[in-house]
Amino acid sequence: MEHMDKETFRRVGHELVDWVAEYLDTVDARPVVPRIDPGDILSRLADHAPETPESMNRIMDDFKHVIMPGISHWQHPGWFGYFPANSSPPSILAELLIAGVGAQCMIWQTSPAAAELETVVLDWLRKMLGLPENMTGVIQDGASAATLCALLTAREVATGFKSNLTGITMPLTVYTSVESHSSVEKGAKIAGFGKDHIRLIPTDPEFAMDPVELERAIVRDRKAGMTPACVVATIGTTSSTAVDPIDRIGRICRQYNVRLHVDAAYAGTAAVVPELRHFFKGLEYAHSFVFNPHKWMLTNFDCSAYFVTEPDLLTRTFEIHPEYLKTGLESQVTNYRDWGIPLGRRFRALKLWFVIRSYGVAGIRRMVTEHVHFANTFKRWVADHPSFELMAPVHFSLVCFRFNDGRPESTLNEFNEALLENINEPGDVFLTHTVLGGKYTLRMAIGTWKTEETHVRQAWERIVNCAEASA
Ligand SMILES: *Cc1c(COP(=O)(O)O)cnc(C)c1O
Repeated sequence: MEHMDKETFRRVGHELVDWVAEYLDTVDARPVVPRIDPGDILSRLADHAPETPESMNRIMDDFKHVIMPGISHWQHPGWFGYFPANSSPPSILAELLIAGVGAQCMIWQTSPAAAELETVVLDWLRKMLGLPENMTGVIQDGASAATLCALLTAREVATGFKSNLTGITMPLTVYTSVESHSSVEKGAKIAGFGKDHIRLIPTDPEFAMDPVELERAIVRDRKAGMTPACVVATIGTTSSTAVDPIDRIGRICRQYNVRLHVDAAYAGTAAVVPELRHFFKGLEYAHSFVFNPHKWMLTNFDCSAYFVTEPDLLTRTFEIHPEYLKTGLESQVTNYRDWGIPLGRRFRALKLWFVIRSYGVAGIRRMVTEHVHFANTFKRWVADHPSFELMAPVHFSLVCFRFNDGRPESTLNEFNEALLENINEPGDVFLTHTVLGGKYTLRMAIGTWKTEETHVRQAWERIVNCAEASA
């Protein structure tokens, strides 16, 4: 059996690292998102897998000329869409080592250093974010998976770990705000709570969960013979980075014995900055908390950090003991396969270790502070402009705004939708939208590792020019 020889690997490997270095250095020269139609790339790909080997040169050639023209450049400094998925050079290098070592990290025995490093870096993260001391972390592939874990744990706690909903006479209910991420409803569906038992709690004018409405819903359900099992609150909603009042929600959860999971997928990183920790007030009431280093902490996808106060409830939710994985070491080590859904696990702790050591906590703090500062500068420009308005409070590094020069409300949605298209058309900046209270809203999400104030200013100038041209 022929494999790539060491010399070819070395040569191509060096070429690839050079390519990545050059790509990252010049990514701003490319249009942020590709201008292509559905099927364009598909039509240029072979219908069949090649029967005989192809050279790395040919494969790389097609990568550059067929694949790259269809790539959205999330690391482009003009990327202001969705939330960032920011990466960084140390993270990319660690990813190469992870693939190079190719270890499976399901249990301690299958990669002892990976398991122990995961324990250590997650504890670093806990301390960096000032999370409660009784929280223990584990890496998940995403916040959606972590939230599903929280919902499954809540189901198991409520049903006495029987993993069986068929005999349940009192339906279990789940509570989250209308502004929460779709992963909550999806998780509740997967966990079997039933669509009829997911309560979407109304929000206040700033899009944060209304705790009075939450309590009302819990009381109503209890009266109707249901068992409120879990509240999922959000710090930094996806639409507008609204912050649910965790302390008030937490007190309600405690009073009615309902579990509390906090989703801070994007905004969690902000807790590295002590001045921003007030948004996390009340976290001591939470049974679990998730945030994504793969969104705003310089760690390339995937890497989500899930923290729980009672790891034994999590592992009791998931553990099974197949003979072929018994090692006799179970009592001395952490087997992360029991802390989530998949068995096989990547060595993601290595990326975090590289990133945190390479930037230092101070470096990460500086990045967050800078992005929040850019957002507040942008916010001021919006607020000071007579034809623009802010649509939600700016808590972190997202600004929600729209054009509004006083023309009839009924025409504004269409105008702003067209405006967004014009802003993105030249390809040097990219923004996305949301709808807040029925109003079409532009989102300026600042957070790639290459974004500087000049890029934010350029984006604002583009926005103003486009608006003036079409107003
Ligand atoms: C992005 C986001 C998620 C989903 O994160 P994944 O890691 O992609 O699953 C969940 N909740 C919130 C608030 C988010 O912003």
